[in-house]
Amino acid sequence: MTHEEVAARREIVHYSHKLHAAGLVCATDGNLSVRLDRDRVLITPSGIRKEEMHLQAPILVNMDGEPLSDPRRPSTEYKIHMEAYRQRPDVRAVIHAHPPRAIAVTLTDTPLDTCLLPEVVVTLGSIPVAPYAAPSTEALPDSIRDLVTRTDVIMLARHGSVTLGETLGEAFGKLERLEKSAEILIYAHSLGGPRSFSRTQLEELRGLREFYGVTTRTMPCDQEGTE
Ligand SMILES: [Zn+2]
Repeated sequence: MTHEEVAARREIVHYSHKLHAAGLVCATDGNLSVRLDRDRVLITPSGIRKEEMHLQAPILVNMDGEPLSDPRRPSTEYKIHMEAYRQRPDVRAVIHAHPPRAIAVTLTDTPLDTCLLPEVVVTLGSIPVAPYAAPSTEALPDSIRDLVTRTDVIMLARHGSVTLGETLGEAFGKLERLEKSAEILIYAHSLGGPRSFSRTQLEELRGLREFYGVTTRTMPCDQEGTE
């Protein structure tokens, strides 16, 4: 086993435990993966609780999700991960989670209006919601195909989130921000509804993004804002 694979296994265990501790998955939900090179991905197996993840658990698969020298199967949602890697050569880590507050927003007619807080506008932008697709079907990777080229953060309607990064740490950070943003949005709706930034304020924030050299791929908040 290469040094790189050992490091990736450690990273998967670390962030699996964090996902569970943060309440972003329950039971055996969710999956994490790291791309080791062009043809090999290390991914969590099905049927294991994330707080019980250990170094031997992740499975090495090829880009078709076929296990390489391992009798076990990867998570049935591996197709989400492979779609992201196929469309985005820059991505080296993917987390699919079931963040409860962000999912709740997709269950209502409320738009997942994430462009309400400065740090979200700068780092995540406008977060698209992929149309509902039944779990583990071909429709699931199809539902994110176009979106994944444009942003690092996607919600799957009635299901969960997909966040991408160069590392699992990056993908996890985006997921945390997404869920916190949904929580604040729910509070704001309970207090009468949030008020959007003005276009001038959004323009100023876009300048900050350039100033700080933020390179995450986002769908800009251009369409939003009042005035
Ligand atoms: Zn799922």
